[in-house]
Amino acid sequence: MLLDEPRCTVCNKEIKEEDVVLVKMRYPKRKGFTEIKAYLRNEGKFICEACYNKKSY
Ligand SMILES: [Zn+2]
Repeated sequence: MLLDEPRCTVCNKEIKEEDVVLVKMRYPKRKGFTEIKAYLRNEGKFICEACYNKKSY
């Protein structure tokens, strides 16, 4: 249940399911990744494949 759809931080394109993305994030302090989805939503910066290929980030 996402209130905010994830978007590419470079071009603001909406990230769709199964899109290839890069995630720039700080590695979690806590052990384990049980809350990884919530963590990514809060901390992750997504970069879509097109922007990655252009290396414009
Ligand atoms: Zn992009």
